[in-house]
Amino acid sequence: MAKKASIYSTLVLIVVAGLFAGGYLLMNRRSRMECGFCRRQINAKAHVVAEVGGRRRDVCCTHCAVTEARQEKKSLRLIAVTDYPTGKLVSPEGAWFVEDSRVIACQHDMSKMDESKHMEQLAFDRCSPGTFAFSDRKAAEAFVDQNGGVLRSLPEVLAEAEQQ
Ligand SMILES: [Zn+2]
Repeated sequence: MAKKASIYSTLVLIVVAGLFAGGYLLMNRRSRMECGFCRRQINAKAHVVAEVGGRRRDVCCTHCAVTEARQEKKSLRLIAVTDYPTGKLVSPEGAWFVEDSRVIACQHDMSKMDESKHMEQLAFDRCSPGTFAFSDRKAAEAFVDQNGGVLRSLPEVLAEAEQQ
């Protein structure tokens, strides 16, 4: 009887450990796919890694991180940005940014937004217009020629986070 009980408890332990590991993997995956600020799916071409107030997050685009820093009056540091033409994460130092173009970075899915997020976001879109990053200035200029928008340097983008 005692042996049977110990086999049973071992099985339970294995199942619990499996669920725990699965949940952990799922959470990890979620945090990589979802914007840490607005909870939208991250567009691979606009993905940035940013620190706002010292907390590092995966963000759907530069504009969303700038909005967060400005609204929360916190410091913004860009850790990595995605080079739009190649989809690779690159250093934001020396990168060029295009704002106000006709290309939409985020898919709108307001139903995913949780209730703790501010209501004004439903009317005002924190991610729009999306900001795209380019490691090559010529590529950024070509993008502007095709899609409109304004070319900005990293210091110009960071300065926007400090505007009130
Ligand atoms: Zn976002």
